[in-house]
Amino acid sequence: MPPHKRPNPLIDKAPGLQQVRHLLAVSSCKGGVGKSTVAVNLAGALQQQGCRVGLFDADVYGPSLPTIVRPEKTDLFSRSELIVPLEYEGLKLMSFGFVPTAQGGSGAAIMRGPMVTQVINQLLTGTDWGALDYLVIDMPPGTGDVQLTLTQLIPLTAAIIVTTPQELSFVDVVKGIQMFQKLKVPTIAVVENMAYYECPQCGERDYLFGPGVRQRLVKQFGIQNAFEIPLWKALSQTGDEGRPLIFADPVHAISQTFGNLAQAARREIEELQCNRDAPAARFVIGRGVVVTWPDGREQDIDPATLRRRCQCARCVDEQTGQPLLDPAAVADDIYPTDLHPMGNYAVAVHWSDGHDASIYPYDLLASLANDSP
Ligand code: ADP
Repeated sequence: MPPHKRPNPLIDKAPGLQQVRHLLAVSSCKGGVGKSTVAVNLAGALQQQGCRVGLFDADVYGPSLPTIVRPEKTDLFSRSELIVPLEYEGLKLMSFGFVPTAQGGSGAAIMRGPMVTQVINQLLTGTDWGALDYLVIDMPPGTGDVQLTLTQLIPLTAAIIVTTPQELSFVDVVKGIQMFQKLKVPTIAVVENMAYYECPQCGERDYLFGPGVRQRLVKQFGIQNAFEIPLWKALSQTGDEGRPLIFADPVHAISQTFGNLAQAARREIEELQCNRDAPAARFVIGRGVVVTWPDGREQDIDPATLRRRCQCARCVDEQTGQPLLDPAAVADDIYPTDLHPMGNYAVAVHWSDGHDASIYPYDLLASLANDSP
């Protein structure tokens, strides 16, 4: 079943979301990494590619949409009991920051987790989004309860994770991927923001924080779409001025990167819908994990071998790459309790020993064919 067609009480009960085809989360582990900047420029890029797009700022603690985008008309009103979203260059917008409060401030700082999710939920479902191809959701930063509950409530098609390339960033990315994986939402791309500084005179790139996470993403999760955005004054300037770079300078090299990100997202989501070429994995007693490749070939993998090759943060040290899992601690008769595809690139497995963080890229599965006893 296509991801956006998952039965979901939220969509069923929310008239304003009925005609929204895909909800696409933009998420980060920490605040201040450029998540909102990416969300708004991605939304603009999708729109410039001919899609109908909305942008929902779910970051009630620090709603930045009203700063980054300044629509001409900012008065909210309702029609048939739904709030009419604001518009900027054809983009439909909604943020807690657009909602006037008695105190004039956002008031979100004093809200506890459950209230936050309730407010976000009400604003998302109470908005008349109309017919949209993509509703980009700027998620609150972090991977805690609020984010998990939101991911449960909102029927996301896919997620994009934004990070900065400091030493611990790969751990952050993994946390994000695993939060979404728990709820079967595939992470389709990772954006490394402020990845390098480019000298305006000679064009030389200085990777201030060292190499990025691309290689590890491909190896560990099979995610092919990693994009680098440089530290660039125009990006913060246009954000501060309320006219995002994608609108202020659509041919700028960074705008083109956002265009490539939008294209990758559309392609991945399209493939998720048809799932034509994706291998399928299932558990068969007596055979183990059986992978059926698109050409019809079947491959049996011993479950214990697969469990011992888990690459998650609990089984392999993220910093050193040293194994943390003692192979002898895995029972030979272990079996998967759940197997489900992670987007177009990997299979996620829950195990009978209670371990639920395993993600196996298809390349790794293919390489295990000969290792199995
Ligand atoms: P978050 O949503 O993660 O909290 P924001 O998108 O609000 O982060 O960005 C935080 C600040 O950093 C903003 O002032 C923004 O304009 C600036 N910024 C984001 N990305 C870049 C970049 N690549 N180069 C320069 N400034 C950036």
